[in-house]
Amino acid sequence: MDISYILNLLGEDRDKYYNAIAPPVIQSSNFAFDTVAALRSAFGNEKSAHLYTRGNNPTVEILRKKIAALAGADDSLILGSGAAAMATAVIAQVQQGDHIVCIRKPYSWTDKLCRIILSRFGVETTFVAGTSPADYFDAAKPNTKLFILESPNTFTYELQDLAAISTFAKSKNITTIIDNTYCSPIGQRCIEMGIDIEVHSASKYLNGHSDIIAGVIIGNNDHISKIYRSEFMNLGAIISPHDAWLMLRGLRTLPIRLKQIGETTAKVVSFLEDHSAVEQVLYPFSKTNPQLELAKKQMLWPGGLLSIVLKTEDISKVENFCESLTFFKMAVSWGGHESLIMPACAFYPTEHTGHRTYPPNLVRLYIGLEESTALIEDLKQALVCIV
Ligand SMILES: *Cc1c(COP(=O)(O)O)cnc(C)c1O
Repeated sequence: MDISYILNLLGEDRDKYYNAIAPPVIQSSNFAFDTVAALRSAFGNEKSAHLYTRGNNPTVEILRKKIAALAGADDSLILGSGAAAMATAVIAQVQQGDHIVCIRKPYSWTDKLCRIILSRFGVETTFVAGTSPADYFDAAKPNTKLFILESPNTFTYELQDLAAISTFAKSKNITTIIDNTYCSPIGQRCIEMGIDIEVHSASKYLNGHSDIIAGVIIGNNDHISKIYRSEFMNLGAIISPHDAWLMLRGLRTLPIRLKQIGETTAKVVSFLEDHSAVEQVLYPFSKTNPQLELAKKQMLWPGGLLSIVLKTEDISKVENFCESLTFFKMAVSWGGHESLIMPACAFYPTEHTGHRTYPPNLVRLYIGLEESTALIEDLKQALVCIV
């Protein structure tokens, strides 16, 4: 389906609200019925009816249609955070005694969901590198119900071969869930590559303005109905109509934001790859990425998130670098209009010498909507701290 049609027309019944271009925020918990028959019919079809806002809301429903269509799927659910979307989608797939194979180093709360919460209910998880599809095949057991993927991840950008892993999973009746936040639904066509369920933190690109927390679950009618009936309604981690309205407003500019971010990031990456204070650039489309061919095969859009390893072991120099930047704000999250940095050394006390998931001279950069020249000048002056 045409992206312009999806973002401007799909799901908008403008004649129901005075032909207003921007839809109303239907800030109501419940909806009234004239007849018992109509109420009865809504009870039988809560996912599409307008009965109670935990189940469906007209403002949220516009988003549900657009997000599903953007990913090429039947339906979607909108939640109050990406973490809620992942937990809701995953819990719906497993019961006591089941086994999950999950990518190593997924988003931190996905890791905790498997390690801390699901293990309390007798669901076991094996974490795999996933850079070879065989990592998933070899870890699968007779009781494996679910593969969790995140390609690329959002600190070191390892990829998984989505087509190969989903083909194997289908042959074994194993459900696949991917966290596709890095690419957005238009930057990587997971459903078309055979993945069953796509999850996003909409706090990132889908909303794109750093002003709400939200998440989405996307899939075919069977998968979405199953999740809706139990975990979605029971955990009740919904988005508010007002936040849905903000997300709808942000979503309208998704393609032009991604285009601008992709172009600027390419320029920043090539500047950093040639800079003497940078030891390594980690980015799916970096010329030094050993998985570059796979990135080209399955990612339609290169992304705005990358990491650099600075050429120093001195954490105080890394700190100086971060604190010398002007346009790059030091903050968690990403996907908004503003460029950001996240130094890995902030995860550990400075005296820490034990196991670290990421080297202390690694800094993650997110490229926002500023001009590339402004961002490169900013990096250039701050990298003086390193050399
Ligand atoms: C931010 C993020 C999440 C969690 O989303 P929230 O909206 O913050 O709950 C999950 N996965 C990835 C890859 C993320 O970047």
